Amino acid sequence: MELTDKFKKTTEFIKAKYPEKNFVGLHEPVFIGNEREYVLDAIDSTFVSSVGAYVNRFEEMMTQITGAKYAVAIVNGTNALHMGLILAGVQREDEVLSQALTFIATANAISYIGAIPVFLDVDKDTLGMSPVALKLFLEENAEKRQDGTYNKSTGKKIAACVPMHTFGFPCRIDEIAAICEEWNIYLVEDAAESLGSYYKDKHTGVFGGIGVFSFNGNKTVTCGGGGALITNDEAIAKRAKHLTTQAKVPHKWEFVHDEIGYNYRMPNLNAALACAQLEQLEHFIENKRGLAAAYKAFFEMQDIKFVIELPEAKANYWLNALLFNDREERDTFLTYSNETGVMTRPIWELMNRLKMFQYCQTDELTNSVWIAERLVNIPSGFRV
Ligand SMILES: *Cc1c(COP(=O)(O)O)cnc(C)c1O
Repeated sequence: MELTDKFKKTTEFIKAKYPEKNFVGLHEPVFIGNEREYVLDAIDSTFVSSVGAYVNRFEEMMTQITGAKYAVAIVNGTNALHMGLILAGVQREDEVLSQALTFIATANAISYIGAIPVFLDVDKDTLGMSPVALKLFLEENAEKRQDGTYNKSTGKKIAACVPMHTFGFPCRIDEIAAICEEWNIYLVEDAAESLGSYYKDKHTGVFGGIGVFSFNGNKTVTCGGGGALITNDEAIAKRAKHLTTQAKVPHKWEFVHDEIGYNYRMPNLNAALACAQLEQLEHFIENKRGLAAAYKAFFEMQDIKFVIELPEAKANYWLNALLFNDREERDTFLTYSNETGVMTRPIWELMNRLKMFQYCQTDELTNSVWIAERLVNIPSGFRV
């Protein structure tokens, strides 16, 4: 089959999935539940800022959904990651292991502390951190000392590891958790994209000490802007609440703060929206998985590679992804689809290729480079 013919069929198939749209976006939010009611209720209550019933309800809902003991609402996912790394004990000049193929927020959050990211390779099938790459990197570069694991070539402490569940596809997080435990490295999961995704029947974000979520406008569940941090560790949860509320010592009227804190609280107004959206999470995911199943069948016929979850995982299919044979084919498809009213996008530039991170240590990144040249995200939003 001619390439253009294949691509024409593809965009027609995608458009038919969203018949009411002239231009099909990548992931548009839908507000079809109690959003209006809850937001108006928050306004009527006058509790629109960072204290309020919806913040508490949101945190409660997040523990129910993820199975974590504690959840703390945070103003956005990036700041939730920053907070997670602080709570993990990461210090200035420490190193943090992450993946080259991720959204910029992961690397930025590490940098806010003054820590240095190390970018490791991902698995070709999960698009997330490769446990094989992690293990190999540590065996070749790290040594255990009394107070933790150190990078032999830089002399710096490897304080944390931040794998990311790309597009909601769970990576091999149990193996990664086991390696981190063996090397005494704190695990913070960037689960920003994987709300409602499970690995071996456990929700993503609960495999390490801390998990982090985002509720940005393009995510599966949105509240305009928002984030959450989950943990089973009571001390961490308490400190998260404390640090995100300017480290204020609770008192009836006095303003005493016992360390340098942050204004990272999620406003009640956003939490109201989040609660209404979370009520629909299962519905959203069922809808998205239905679309993914249709895509899978269609792309099998077209002989185009469509990314699917591992057999032992259940993905939320936040963003569906295609893998083309090479960069040229990818670019032809990107041009064709965007010109014909179907929004498609390549994957992020690899972190180590950005000027801020060009001097960071990496491994071979074989799979990351391979994926970066071939991957395209296609429309994945809820279909009404
Ligand atoms: C969206 C996202 C974040 C950050 O979330 P914001 O709420 O936009 O700050 C972090 N990491 C990854 C991988 C993301 O996709």
